[in-house]
Amino acid sequence: MTSLETIVSLAKRKGFVFPGSDIYGGLAGTWDYGPLGVLLKENIKREWWKSMRKPHIFPLDSAIISSAKVWQSSGHTDHFTDPLVECKKCKRRFRTDHIEDTKCPECGGALGESRQFNMMFKTHAGAIEDESAVAYLRPETAQGIFINFKNVVDAFHPKLAFGIAQIGKAFRNEITPRNFVFRSREFEQMELEYFCDPKDADQYFGEIRAMRMQWFLNLGIKKENLRFRDYAGDELAHYSKATTDIEYRFGLSQDGFSELEGVANRTDFDLKNHFPEYHWTGDDFIKSDAGFVPNVIEPSVGVDRAFLAFMIDAYDEDELAGDKRVVLRLHPRLAPITVAVFPLVSNKEHITEKAKEVFDVLSREFMVRWDDIGNIGKRYRRQDEIGTPWCVTIDYQTLEDGTVTVRDRDTAKQERVAISEVAALFREKLI
Ligand code: ATP
Repeated sequence: MTSLETIVSLAKRKGFVFPGSDIYGGLAGTWDYGPLGVLLKENIKREWWKSMRKPHIFPLDSAIISSAKVWQSSGHTDHFTDPLVECKKCKRRFRTDHIEDTKCPECGGALGESRQFNMMFKTHAGAIEDESAVAYLRPETAQGIFINFKNVVDAFHPKLAFGIAQIGKAFRNEITPRNFVFRSREFEQMELEYFCDPKDADQYFGEIRAMRMQWFLNLGIKKENLRFRDYAGDELAHYSKATTDIEYRFGLSQDGFSELEGVANRTDFDLKNHFPEYHWTGDDFIKSDAGFVPNVIEPSVGVDRAFLAFMIDAYDEDELAGDKRVVLRLHPRLAPITVAVFPLVSNKEHITEKAKEVFDVLSREFMVRWDDIGNIGKRYRRQDEIGTPWCVTIDYQTLEDGTVTVRDRDTAKQERVAISEVAALFREKLI
């Protein structure tokens, strides 16, 4: 099992993720994504959007800063809390449900009374810092979808069932952020709210749960590292009729599995809160006593948690021709760099020129990296470590017959391919 330390260290060394505010001593629970991290995250998000490309799913990008009234109505002001205890001696604070002992895990001091701590980040919108200006950074993207439900219905007149999907930042003042990007204070969520007739809710819950599991499998996560966990009745949030977590074997808990994504039947709770008196009648959502309130099925996954799962799952160490190597076996559609281009030697003008041509052609379609430093073996290792699926080398033979060497990350096999066919080859492999 790959340890978290291995991933954290690779992530920093290779430019995937850096600790937030690092040169000033850091800010707990924040992370800065470096160049490769940005690319991997973008690819994860693109794959998610691709899976949402359906005629009855509408994309949305709602504001991060939102009115206090949104969170009053949604119940977050009163209920979005975690239990907190403070050590009487060292004053450190912990999540009560994360502590196994009755003593402080840091200094052994006595712990005070447990109390509820609200995790929303509060701020003031505008120049006057009084109660009327209080606003919040959203702790989930879902409420932005619910408050826009009527806007989308009025603009598009969709029939049930339909969905509204959003990717965006969410902020939670976690008491104990930990485990790298698994639990941070600023993170990104990918959420779909799928609205349906209450009588169809169980069916859609089953279908969406299966669809989301398949998404991870299609992107290469090993089956044995994923599982469903259905919530028992007493674990359900007050608004939920059924919840299933898709868990990944992060190796952070006793049996190794922790929540990667939650799929919940949120019933009519949110629409009722934001639009009391409104009902679905005919194909409209209007103030009426007749009709029903649509129910909603919500798959909700953190981009950062998915990022971590893909990194852990892809990490491998093996041996090639007696040489140890680290290889990230990321799905080619997720890999930050799709192709690396190497001129065999950097001091031969014709080879460099030809390699630049290949670089330019491939760059039109793929994320390409140029590397002309060190011997080819070293260049392969560098790309293996960041998950680049293919390397293209331009050598003397290229100048004679217009072919290049294409080397595969996983098999380390090399084949000669005509320059004119190389883009088509990758295009086909990426489908
Ligand atoms: P947990 O029990 O781990 O705190 P949660 O049940 O509160 O998570 P949800 O509110 O269901 O999480 O959020 C949906 C998804 O958002 C989670 O499955 C996870 O992928 C992601 N997520 C939630 N909190 C964080 C966080 N602090 N850092 C990174 N990702 C998070």
